[in-house]
Amino acid sequence: MNLEEAIQNSWRRIDEGQVATYIPALADVDPYQLGVYLFNIKDNKRVCAGAAQTRFAIESVSKVISLLYAIEHLGLTTVNQRVGTRQTGFAFNTILNMEITRETKPLNPFVNSGAIVISSLITEENGQSPVDQLLAFTRKICHDPQVSLNEEIYQSEARTGDMNRSLAYYLKAKGTLTRSATSSLETYFKQCSFMVTCESLANLGAVLANDGVAPWDGERIVSSAAATYAKSVMMTTGLYTESGTYSVRIGVPTKSGVGGGLVAAAPNYGIGIFSPALDQAGNSIAGLDLLERLSQQLHLDIFKY
Ligand code: GLU
Repeated sequence: MNLEEAIQNSWRRIDEGQVATYIPALADVDPYQLGVYLFNIKDNKRVCAGAAQTRFAIESVSKVISLLYAIEHLGLTTVNQRVGTRQTGFAFNTILNMEITRETKPLNPFVNSGAIVISSLITEENGQSPVDQLLAFTRKICHDPQVSLNEEIYQSEARTGDMNRSLAYYLKAKGTLTRSATSSLETYFKQCSFMVTCESLANLGAVLANDGVAPWDGERIVSSAAATYAKSVMMTTGLYTESGTYSVRIGVPTKSGVGGGLVAAAPNYGIGIFSPALDQAGNSIAGLDLLERLSQQLHLDIFKY
């Protein structure tokens, strides 16, 4: 597979998208970037191309990590009591199900309301704040000790995050948040501001593709049940309102973030992609084009059986 050629082809799609502007610090990112890192766990081979080592804000891809952490620490039963696993046809900040049907839990852990609930479940432990725990866990599961919080992006998110604030206070009023709205939001905004690379996300994808075990040293990082749960939710709702579209076109559990990152967990492969120009739904436009090429050429579609 010629990654450089695939990148050149997908690059042409960048002009169809735009960087996220609703978080001012993200608006300054150069849209003309595309990088990919591919970790073949079967042959233990790693290849990369383009902006594979560029750091970018993890944003919603962090929801996969906080979900895994919450499942590991609190168990699936507790997580299921607080957040659903249903697919949504609505935007990422929807609370329509709670509004219309009077349900007390968000649709799934990847809509913002669900992610804020997951973050609120993580509490201080042994003097470690929820953010410190998530940062340590992110470094571990991404096999990347350089992951750190970008203070400027965090401040930018916090300053302009009124929609997320409204969701958190709504959830608090409904009795769904276990911590205060402000402290839950602090965790959520900060985890979204962690800086990763394509390589970090490929490692995360590789752990998921390897049933929860780190392929680099054989240590089990999350249970098989947690890995399966995360991949299932990634498949059904990892790409916002377009999850169904890409389930048909790509067929690989994938999660995107508005920083332009994508993590994919395919049979035998962990994949990390970065390209910050987004489509209308908030997904990396060239990134998904590239993932589609990879899926076709490497036969990654899990539904082709
Ligand atoms: N921090 C972003 C927000 O809450 C994340 C959104 C995303 O990546 O989908 O709006």
